[in-house]
Amino acid sequence: MTSRRSFLRTAAAGLGGMWIAGAAGGAPRFDPRNAARREGRRLGFALVGLGSLSMNQIVPALAKTEHARLAGVVTGTPSKGRRMIEEYGLAPGSVYDYTTMERMRDNADIDVVVVVTPNGLHHRDTLAAARAGKHVLCEKPMANTAAECEEMIAACRRAGVKLAIGYRCQFEPHHLECIRLAREQAFGAVKIVEAGLGFRIGDPSQWRLRKDLAGGGAMMDVGVYALQACRYLTGEEPVRVSAHETKTDPVKFAEVDETITFDLVFPSGVLGSCTTTYNASGANYLRAFAERGSFGMDPAYSYGGLKAWSSAGEIRFDPTDHFAVQMDDFARCVLEGRESKVPGEEGLRDLRIIEAVYESARSGRAVTLG
Ligand code: NAD
Repeated sequence: MTSRRSFLRTAAAGLGGMWIAGAAGGAPRFDPRNAARREGRRLGFALVGLGSLSMNQIVPALAKTEHARLAGVVTGTPSKGRRMIEEYGLAPGSVYDYTTMERMRDNADIDVVVVVTPNGLHHRDTLAAARAGKHVLCEKPMANTAAECEEMIAACRRAGVKLAIGYRCQFEPHHLECIRLAREQAFGAVKIVEAGLGFRIGDPSQWRLRKDLAGGGAMMDVGVYALQACRYLTGEEPVRVSAHETKTDPVKFAEVDETITFDLVFPSGVLGSCTTTYNASGANYLRAFAERGSFGMDPAYSYGGLKAWSSAGEIRFDPTDHFAVQMDDFARCVLEGRESKVPGEEGLRDLRIIEAVYESARSGRAVTLG
């Protein structure tokens, strides 16, 4: 059985160092004229939740960033806090637990809080970070419900802090190249997008299978990548959603969805066809079919080893640390006083569509989106 970690972990990439000439976007480039960079300022990032993603991806990625550094943690496990002090040199005063987190307000060394707790706690932790006056980078999915997303956006706005969602693929060069091919109509107008992500989930006692902590199952956790891909390739918002759900293991998936397919209709007429599952291996793709050709990726959403192609041939980029480019971008947004391209509103849009997917799967009817 594939663990979630091994499924997403960096695969042996072996991709050559060729960058596609003229690739729009590419890895975000920093403007050397920017004053903040001349000052060499690195913003202090504090991680909330020291689980798998924090320790295996985000902590190592912070060391690769230009504009961010590890400056604090929030953990409910004292031994993890001690480890961060001993191994990562954190100041003891920068280790908090969930009840003392708001004291970060008095810690000028922390600029940004990264929320990496289970989905059902993102709302609580984002509100606490906003009350402490810190900018927030919140992991996907943004929250359990669209209503929670709205409260998170309002809280950050009231506190005058920025809020961004951990949509790492929107900073990754292969995805950016696919976005360029779609938006510039390199092969004519895109008519169909197919996207899917799923894996066979292990341990039946984990929080991902609990409705209160996860909000839902495969759809919330990894279906959101397929949904995102359809939205960022087309640059459009779906106007109609229809979905089907099956549950072949009703015991394990008593509280959350196991397998869902969903179709999206976009205003221009593009159709999106998506799959997500917690009970089958191998779905990790993105394909776009345009008037005169096609392009896509498989694997598309892993942390490394991505493979992309178009009708014109293979698309190759140097491997990128998705989390490092994402955090550098957010640090630059804070330093330069500009909005992230993946703000809270982007997470809210996805949650509204996910809620429509669930409603359609439940009712057996297509749901129209406003
Ligand atoms: P994890 O279970 O490995 O870690 C969760 C952390 O939250 C643990 O340190 C745990 O102790 C802590 N926690 C605090 N309160 C908890 C509670 N009541 N129940 C359970 N744990 C609690 O999970 P993870 O894989 O690190 O995922 C964390 C978040 O990151 C999720 O929102 C997930 O969707 C997201 N994520 C994003 C990506 C990505 O590629 N962007 C990848 C993996 C996970």
